[in-house]
Amino acid sequence: MLNKVLIIYTGGTIGMVQDENGSLQPFAMDRIFDAVPQLKYCTYDIESCQLQDIIDSSNMTPTFWADIADIIEKEYNNYDGFVVLHGTDTMAYTASALSFMFKNLTKPIVLTGSQLPLSMLRSDGRENIICALEIASCKEVCIPEVCIFFENHLYRGNRSTKVSAENFDAFESYNYPSLAKAGIEIIYKKHLILPMPTNPLRVRKQFDTRVAVLKLFPGITREVVLSVLNTPNLQGVVIETYGSGNAPTEAWFIDALDDAIQRGILVMNVTQCKAGSVKMRQYAASCDMDRIGVVSGHDITMEAAITKMMYLLGAYPNDKAHVHQRLEESIRGEISGR
Ligand code: ASP
Repeated sequence: MLNKVLIIYTGGTIGMVQDENGSLQPFAMDRIFDAVPQLKYCTYDIESCQLQDIIDSSNMTPTFWADIADIIEKEYNNYDGFVVLHGTDTMAYTASALSFMFKNLTKPIVLTGSQLPLSMLRSDGRENIICALEIASCKEVCIPEVCIFFENHLYRGNRSTKVSAENFDAFESYNYPSLAKAGIEIIYKKHLILPMPTNPLRVRKQFDTRVAVLKLFPGITREVVLSVLNTPNLQGVVIETYGSGNAPTEAWFIDALDDAIQRGILVMNVTQCKAGSVKMRQYAASCDMDRIGVVSGHDITMEAAITKMMYLLGAYPNDKAHVHQRLEESIRGEISGR
């Protein structure tokens, strides 16, 4: 029996055409098959569907994440793998969110897109779609993970970051190696892939969006910090700190964080550096944050940190202590060595 893959089209550059003003606008799925005639020669079955609204991924929201998850959950037993066509701008957020939503995943969910629309001669989209489909349909190596395939590399989704608005190799995974590399053959690095789970799939689709990201910079004022921390109903904040998790040691800053934590707001420390990890207490400049109960994000990406926080707050709305504990742990391979 041939393996079967479902393509879920959500929008993004890959399926866009120019409107009369020259701006790129999303268009309908059937044109994608016209643009990749090679799909006729695949040795697996492909079916496709699309979200009700086709979007530029800068319009992505947790409601769309739930829509994508609904389709996959409904069709889970009918396909061997799933390919999600998605805009590159927020692909790393969606891949992270889906990874948290699907616990005990036993089938690949591969997100891909392109920097140039399929309608253009030099589009990178054809290669990306064909490789993503090959990986999602592979009988020999089944990857039970949410991944991003882009420009010859398969990355763990919740480790990925968009790094270029220009180059075809638009994604990187700085703190975890790629899971596979496409050359003449697709080489899978089996030892890096998450083990096949034995427990049944569980899908959770609630996200709590009462969160914020606060990026530090030299000269940041008390007013800016307080305006974020005093946001009405705020439940959690990811602070983007310097280096190995360092931040100002001035009393007004630590007191502001301490006050937020006392009010039940979760504060998570994630580094602005693309590679490497938060190491609380390595420098005196992070000791106070550790003392007052700031959560270490270790080597998590910002995209995974904010989606994980929204996911855990949505999944455990009345248990901040549990959310705090899970934020420190790796729940889907998003943090190294935890
Ligand atoms: N703005 C587009 C999007 O994210 C960019 C892309 O697809 O590459 O939907």
